Amino acid sequence: MNPAPPDPRRVPSRLRSRTKIVATIGPASEGRIGDLIDAGMDVARINFSHGEPREHRRRVEAVRGAAGERGRAVGILADIPGPKLRLGRFEGGERTLMEGEVVRVLQGDAVAGPGEILFDFGGFLQSVAPGHRMMLADGQAALTVEEVRGDSVVARVARPGVLGDRKGVHLPDSPLDYELPTPRDRECVELAVSLGVDMLGISFVGRAEEVECVRSLAPGMAMVAKIERSLALENLEAILEASDGVMVARGDLGVELDLERVPIVQKALLRAARDAACFSITATEMLESMTGQSRPTRAEVADVANAVLDGTDALMLSAETAVGSFPVEAVRTMGRVAAEVEGGPDYTDRSDRSLRREWKIDTADAIAIAAARLSGALEIPRIVCFTESGRSVRLVSRCRPSAEIIALSPDERVVRQMTVLAHVRPMVFPRVENLEDMLARASRMLKSERLVDEGAEIVFVAGVPAGVSRSTNLVKVHRVGEDVKLH
Ligand code: PEP
Repeated sequence: MNPAPPDPRRVPSRLRSRTKIVATIGPASEGRIGDLIDAGMDVARINFSHGEPREHRRRVEAVRGAAGERGRAVGILADIPGPKLRLGRFEGGERTLMEGEVVRVLQGDAVAGPGEILFDFGGFLQSVAPGHRMMLADGQAALTVEEVRGDSVVARVARPGVLGDRKGVHLPDSPLDYELPTPRDRECVELAVSLGVDMLGISFVGRAEEVECVRSLAPGMAMVAKIERSLALENLEAILEASDGVMVARGDLGVELDLERVPIVQKALLRAARDAACFSITATEMLESMTGQSRPTRAEVADVANAVLDGTDALMLSAETAVGSFPVEAVRTMGRVAAEVEGGPDYTDRSDRSLRREWKIDTADAIAIAAARLSGALEIPRIVCFTESGRSVRLVSRCRPSAEIIALSPDERVVRQMTVLAHVRPMVFPRVENLEDMLARASRMLKSERLVDEGAEIVFVAGVPAGVSRSTNLVKVHRVGEDVKLH
């Protein structure tokens, strides 16, 4: 006998935020994926920078299995690594750099000798020049280049710090010559396609053409441009045009830019993404202290709250859920903080102000804005939106209506892709050609799922003729249980 589907109304509302939660799956969480979903994870992220293909496959299967058991749509986002430059290794796994120390930097992947530091990539010798900065271990330590020799660079420690094996390297003053996607990215995209993931996070994007190239390798997947280079900020408009969503990748962004610029850039990025009808994910160190402790710091709670107020669609956990000691608690905490903010006037006021003049308005946008306004004016708690591609739902979601958006699509992958959109509850629903039947069947389904009661009003958004992508042209206030006669 199949277990009864869970009653969505049993989930305490303060636990389920309208802002979505992306949690990175790693050794700490792979055996607890069901618990992460129950705690509020909407999207599982698998970072292809770490681990082997068989681990990625196992994790994808575990997410699909746990989501299926719960009758819940859970999206999967796979991050392809891009040209991440890394340190080689050190005797004992670690090396402390002292103020003013002079070191030799060489290419290699072995264990560094005394006075040496290894970078795992070629090409930097041609790009660096005296005076250039080398940021090590994601900015924990820094060198300044003094001399470039044939096979090595002589550099002085400008910021002392501890280096670990294979930590990240940034060369903000030395543009390296590489092509994105890299050969390794292409292998990762192939793997992602074979695993049937829903979204691809593209690391170190600098130009729109790179997103377009990855899209051509993975048709049907949602493209998430990770914004972590200054070049991406220069080309932002075109990158947003080419992408479905963006990630504010604050880890690498905070090395590439002066750290103090990151909060303002975050706000600008979230605003620009929404203006371009792209979804947004705010990432990295949101609840970092929860890798080792069961409660976050006040500053982390404020960071999560501010990202919600800034209008992010989703909040992301990285080390907290991948390798931390409290992965489930981190998801639950994030959801509680977001839900608290969403219940307050600051959030609602911002939603109203968010209908901005910068938006390009076509018929589907106008319908989305009308649906949001109707639900607000009439205090209707649910907007029901039929979608083929998910685009019309993205447009309603960016209005951040006070109503919940029930997004119905016949395409299971589109349903999983919509899990990242704020305020959206995506569900699979069969394609129905006739609009009257579509409304009647959807009303019956929502009643059986106990999402609406007989006689309640809902706002319907759809396209006529039904079943055609990008045809959204209808908004209707409908009373559940009433016959629909359009002629
Ligand atoms: C980041 O740099 O903030 C980020 C999300 O990228 P990754 O975790 O892949 O380093």
